[in-house]
Amino acid sequence: MNSNDKIILHVGIDDTDSNEGMCTTYLTHIIIEQLKEQKIYTDDYPRLIRLNPFARYKTRGNGALSFRVTLDSRSQVELVEQIVLENVEKYSMFEGVNTNPGVIFYEGEITDEMRKYAINAIYSIYTIDYAEKFANHIGARVHKFKKGRGIIGAIASISIELPDETFECLAYRTQENIGTKRKLNQESIYHMDEKTYPETFDNIDKEGNYTAIEPHTPCPVLYGIRGNTPEIVEKAHNMVESYEEIEGYCIFRTNQHTDMHIQEGKSIKEMQINSCYKIQCKVIENPHDIEGGHVFFKVSDDTAIMECAAFEPTKTFRNIIRKLRKDDEIILYGGLNENNTFNIEKFKLIKVSPQYNLLNPVCECGKRMKSAGKNKGFKCPKCGNKTKSDKKIKEIIERDIKEGFYEVPTEARRHLSKPIIRMK
Ligand code: ATP
Repeated sequence: MNSNDKIILHVGIDDTDSNEGMCTTYLTHIIIEQLKEQKIYTDDYPRLIRLNPFARYKTRGNGALSFRVTLDSRSQVELVEQIVLENVEKYSMFEGVNTNPGVIFYEGEITDEMRKYAINAIYSIYTIDYAEKFANHIGARVHKFKKGRGIIGAIASISIELPDETFECLAYRTQENIGTKRKLNQESIYHMDEKTYPETFDNIDKEGNYTAIEPHTPCPVLYGIRGNTPEIVEKAHNMVESYEEIEGYCIFRTNQHTDMHIQEGKSIKEMQINSCYKIQCKVIENPHDIEGGHVFFKVSDDTAIMECAAFEPTKTFRNIIRKLRKDDEIILYGGLNENNTFNIEKFKLIKVSPQYNLLNPVCECGKRMKSAGKNKGFKCPKCGNKTKSDKKIKEIIERDIKEGFYEVPTEARRHLSKPIIRMK
């Protein structure tokens, strides 16, 4: 190697946390801070990449982390790898049954086949075996801890192309506060939202009337602010007042809220389970509630019938779904789960179908007439007037819903789901 040659090293990390604690973003933040002490700086913001929301072993949001450094020497490469691996070993929640950390080191440019691998890690489900073979094929260095499932996401995180992107500023708690109630000035969050929305979003759940930036798990994250640019999320972060010490913060480049998981659905028949789509169809059965507060209804295109659901956690969204009626034309966004039910994230109502009640005619005297018997027309029970015709009268039912976009509330939004406010 020529001494002037720079080495581009991509680092991917995934699956280090569990429901009991930790967060791979925090681990990445610690690593980046330690690298800075060695005068090694990331080329860009680290990346927080959300993958297939149907991945079975995810802890919460199926996020994988990565960053890139440009290095001068092999000894620097060794130093970076050592710092990464030491921290993964030190901080991973190895006792978690589904915690199987994976680390990937890759040198050089990202290739088309890597980009393809990454997008398919959002669209479909991979095995550890497949990911390992792929890593070996591209010449990456693979480090598996326990089953090492994290390598699936780690490769995707370094490889994915971001045609659309958002940023998240994550503020972290000090060790002694982790697990205790978060102490934030709630008013400052409302103020921050007022000043920065819609360039930041999902700060407040307006329907639930509570702040949504704080997680409700014992992880090291104090809060996360999501927005369209690194500048706005940092500005918003500076507006939030915390009554507890902030250990540090880190801004991530992400594919959150870009609809990257949504594939253009050609037909219902061709849709695969564990994948997410946008699909135009017609309501063929009015929505109904089932036990547990879930709302179900059926849709169809020319190829097949599909069951759709707005589940209980989507809260007030279910009230909108309940207003849909047979023959309404809609474009659905969401994913097909293992039970072949389409889990709706948002929809566009493109045609509100006219709905009628079929009623007996009203007599001259103002009284509603009754049937005089089969094929015998109607008879007024008050004055005895009769009609020859059997035809009922169509009474238009006022529809309480308009054409347009509807989405689940903030608290029920998937990480990848693009809020309507971001839809240009
Ligand atoms: P958090 O969001 O709190 O960081 P998580 O929800 O991201 O946690 P992980 O602990 O990262 O959950 O676990 C997700 C696991 O699923 C990882 O091992 C990851 O490699 C794997 N995974 C990611 N995408 C796929 C996929 N398409 N097919 C199969 N496994 C996947």
